[in-house]
Amino acid sequence: MTDLKKITILGATGSIGLSTLDVVARHSDKFQVFALTAHSSVDKLAALCLQFQPVYAVVSDSASASVLADKLAGTDTRVLHGVESLEYVASHDLVDVVMAAIVGAAGLLPNLAAANAGKRVLLANKESLVMSGQVFMEAVDKHDATLLPIDSEHNAIFQCLPDGRFQPTQGVERILLTASGGPFREFTASQLKTVSPEQAVAHPNWSMGQKISVDSASLMNKGLELIEACWLFHCSADQVQVVVHPESVVHSMVSYIDGSVIAQMGNPDMRTPIAYGMGWPNRLESGVKPLDFFQVAQLNFEEPDLERFRCLKLAQDSFKTGGTAPAILNAANELAVAAFLSNEIAFMDIPRVVEGTLCAIENQSTDSLDAVLEADLLAREESGKQIIKIGNV
Ligand code: NAD
Ligand code: MG
Repeated sequence: MTDLKKITILGATGSIGLSTLDVVARHSDKFQVFALTAHSSVDKLAALCLQFQPVYAVVSDSASASVLADKLAGTDTRVLHGVESLEYVASHDLVDVVMAAIVGAAGLLPNLAAANAGKRVLLANKESLVMSGQVFMEAVDKHDATLLPIDSEHNAIFQCLPDGRFQPTQGVERILLTASGGPFREFTASQLKTVSPEQAVAHPNWSMGQKISVDSASLMNKGLELIEACWLFHCSADQVQVVVHPESVVHSMVSYIDGSVIAQMGNPDMRTPIAYGMGWPNRLESGVKPLDFFQVAQLNFEEPDLERFRCLKLAQDSFKTGGTAPAILNAANELAVAAFLSNEIAFMDIPRVVEGTLCAIENQSTDSLDAVLEADLLAREESGKQIIKIGNV
């Protein structure tokens, strides 16, 4: 008998995917790669397959699949494509752990498949939970999946909470969700009007994919994370306080009724939460250097400015509204960020597109996956129109 855990990495070629493979490579006695997936970066995926020899490699379309199959000819890796194949490798009987690291709504169906199959789901893809919190958490409960947060803040909160839940009976008073403030923390409202995509993706502390980097710059990322925290830890939006902390050393905190505040700290490197999720309830070496307090020297904290960073407020409000509002917000934001990155709209148009889309679409209840997918589709159509309108002005 072997106790090697088999892992599927959804979004293997991305920032989180590569950090996960770095941790896997440090523990080849404990983990074996079952499947690796990517959207269309065939060269990167082929190189990873040659190194980690998964049973399956999955890409989005058949053209990428045939190029990948040629590159992997003579190996034992089987190449698949499409969403159903993502669901297949996320729910396969042989799989123990699924790293959910696809960016955006594209992660929803494979992540749900993993939850429905009762896997250990390491959740980096926050968008899927924002869209479908109720449906997703029900799937986790019903199928006894183990959902472990990988987002650094949520991983920190999980480490600071008894049983990983917000329980007032255990004296929990509030979650303090930290935010770096992003590259534009000190920009004035008028400076924000002309910032470029290159400036927005240059995050001061974290090296991440493009979409989450722009979300961090607009503070939409913190808004999505607030919603993510409410679902993961079973609390209300008012029980989560966003705290801007530019050093990104305190990854988040939990405040208790006796005045205690428990913080989780470390260098800003995603291999720490990834290793925590992979090893839980044990700890694994991650390659991250211990924190040097003398070098850090100072920790600063400030309140977020909801006027300059309207995305955070829009996200907070959408969660309070409930129903399909967060799914609409998420879809509109995805399109607006893509339009900003391709210079179709300005940075400050991102909240305009999100707000306009939220106003234009009627809110529905989200007790079914179909309702979530319908809201996502409608929001994409509507925000597409708004982007064209704004872009033409
Ligand atoms: P990334 O852009 O670097 O990588 C995204 C991965 O998803 C790639 O492998 C890409 O091929 C794949 N992908 C993209 N579109 C796809 C599609 N339509 N279908 C299938 N696969 C697709 O992104 P990232 O920074 O690694 O972030 C991944 C997720 O983790 C996001 O949801 C992000 O919010 C979350 N997250 C990232 C970080 C970080 O430090 N990078 C931290 C916390 C949470
Ligand atoms: Mg985060």
